[in-house]
Formats: sequence, C-alpha cells, structure tokens
Amino acid sequence: MNKYWSETIKGIIPYVPGEQPRTGRLVKLNTNENPYPPSEAVLEAMKSAVTERLKLYPDPNCTLLRQAAASYYGTSPEMVFAGNGSDEILAFCYKAFFDPGDWLLIPDITYNFYEVYADLFGISYQTIPLTPEFEVSVQAFAEPCDGIILANPNAPTGKALPLIEIEALAKNHPEAVVIVDEAYVDFGGESAIPLLPFYDNLLVIRTFSKSRSLAGLRIGLAFGHPDLIEALIRVRDCVNCFTVDWIAQAGAIASLRDETTFRSNLASIVNTRSKATSLLRAAGFEVIASSTNFLMASYPGLPAKGLYEALRSRNIFVRFFPKPRIDQYLRITVGTDEDMSILLDALTDLT
Ligand SMILES: *Cc1c(COP(=O)(O)O)cnc(C)c1O
Repeated sequence: MNKYWSETIKGIIPYVPGEQPRTGRLVKLNTNENPYPPSEAVLEAMKSAVTERLKLYPDPNCTLLRQAAASYYGTSPEMVFAGNGSDEILAFCYKAFFDPGDWLLIPDITYNFYEVYADLFGISYQTIPLTPEFEVSVQAFAEPCDGIILANPNAPTGKALPLIEIEALAKNHPEAVVIVDEAYVDFGGESAIPLLPFYDNLLVIRTFSKSRSLAGLRIGLAFGHPDLIEALIRVRDCVNCFTVDWIAQAGAIASLRDETTFRSNLASIVNTRSKATSLLRAAGFEVIASSTNFLMASYPGLPAKGLYEALRSRNIFVRFFPKPRIDQYLRITVGTDEDMSILLDALTDLT
C-alpha cells in the first residue's frame, strides 16, 4: 500500500491468473489453453506481417479482421468489435454500458473477472446463486437491473445454458445490456450470435485464446447491435486506439480462414474430454459433464486443495479455487491424450 495509490486501487482485489511456470517439463492443465499449436497458415500469415509496415500504426478499426469475422459468423462488420483479448473487451463493456450506481447481475460462480471489473469501475452488483446442480436459473435473474453478465458455457462449472434461456434473459430485460461471454462455446455450447438481429440489448463476446490456440496473440471479438459496438469503440478511443497490432490482425484473419485445422483440433479435444471424463469417473472422481475444454472433478472424502498441491509437486498444474461451493473441485484443462494419462496416473496414485 502506498500513499500515492487511489482509493479504488487500495481497496481492490485484482484477478489472479493461473500460474505460467517457465521451468522444466510440466503438464500444464491450469489455464484452459489449447494443447495444440496454432495452424501453419496462421504462423505464416503472422510472419508475412513482420515487414517495414510495422513502422505505421495498425488499422485502428481492424477493417479486414472485422470483415472476415462478419462473413465467418454471418453478420455484418458494423456488428463486430475487435479487441486485445476478450478480457479487454469485457473491461470496455463496463465503461461503455454502466455508470456508478447502476446494478449488474452476475452468477455467484463464474469467471472472477466480472466482479473485479465491477469493483474497478465502481459498478454495483448482485451475485445470483447457481442452482445446486451449478446451473444458471433464468428465473433467479428476474430482478430489475442495468446489466447481466454471464459466461455460456459457464466457467469454471463447464455447464452450458440452452439458447432459449439466453433469449429469455435478453427478452425479459429490455432495459439492460445482456453480455454473454462465449469463451468456450466452440467446445460444445450454442452461440447467441443468431439472436443478435432480434435483440439490440445483447452482446456476445468471443476469444481466440481457447478454441483457436492463440492465447498468446490476444484477440477477442464482440458481436452486437451497431449502437453497442459504437459505445465500445468510444471507450477504446478514450484509452488506446491501437489495441490490436498488425501481426495479431493478420493471424486472426488467417485463423478464421483455416477451418480444417480448427475443426480437427476441436474434435481432438472433445474426444479427449470424453475419454478423460470416463476414466476419472472410473477412478472414483465425480466429474461434471463439460461443454468446454476443462473438467471440474472432485474426489469424495479427499480435500481438493491437498490433491492440487500434491499434483503441483509432481509438476502437474491444475486449478483450485478456494471459494465456497467449488472448493472441493479441481479444474482440469483438457490437454492431449498424453497429458491426461500422466494426470490420471498421478491421481490414481494419490487417491
Ligand atoms: C479465458 C477466458 C477469457 C479470456 O480470454 P482472453 O481473450 O484471453 O482475454 C474470457 N472469459 C472467460 C470465461 C475465460 O475463461
């Protein structure tokens, strides 16, 4: 604590990302990265972007990327915003759509950043409990509010909400902005992008960090009514007009064009997920059926924290959240088959 700090920064608890250990051989299943490399086409496109043109600022509007995304997702470029990862876009949303004194509704168990941003920007919020089965209950969100923010599929539960329920949220709250973070939707959820022509209060956020193997590149997209997109552009242009560099724009466009690699990596992950779920269950774990690239698993009678630490000492990194309701679970990213078999051997040994 320092006398020069703002009151907000003195009081805030920042988000804590999963560890990024740099040393030695390890099995890294703690931050939901994709175990497969980005496609050759993406790497080539980025290499080709390393030219003298880097002396110029990048296109602030990401025109070609927004065109590519619009045609890929069946929407129009005015309905697309591109940012430096989806976390940045989420942060912009708080400034774009809410003022201090406004009320947000956030599920009690979800991506922790939603509460961190609310604290940073001084937006009030109420947490809405998931059901005992860790499901989002649309009825529980029947409260007056200025905004709703949720992840679908949810993290870290891995459970997806049917599109009709997302639609009910948008329909029941015409005065609120409903923000749906679809970071994991490619692994098994239903996207709300097709609803956008019908709801001018709905904003869908995507990332290239998980399903597209590009966590290191920092690319996120938002889709919504052009008026919502314009608000995001205004916030961006009050902070940093050039959030997405030339290389990232080129890599992201190439990723959208390489459907084959994308589909094949997704299929591998979904396949490994289903095998790992069965094997963990056979080993005595309780595993929540996942629509994402991670599993929530608990072992009856054994504290998850101890398991997490024991795995860590074997250089196997998973995630543990010391938070009520989920502190009996390990969150395990679905890696390669080999990663999962190392993990399973260790867990069998420890239980
Ligand atoms: C990983 C994750 C993000 C962050 O994505 P970036 O694009 O890498 O910033 C956003 N939301 C959820 C729910 C995530 O799990």
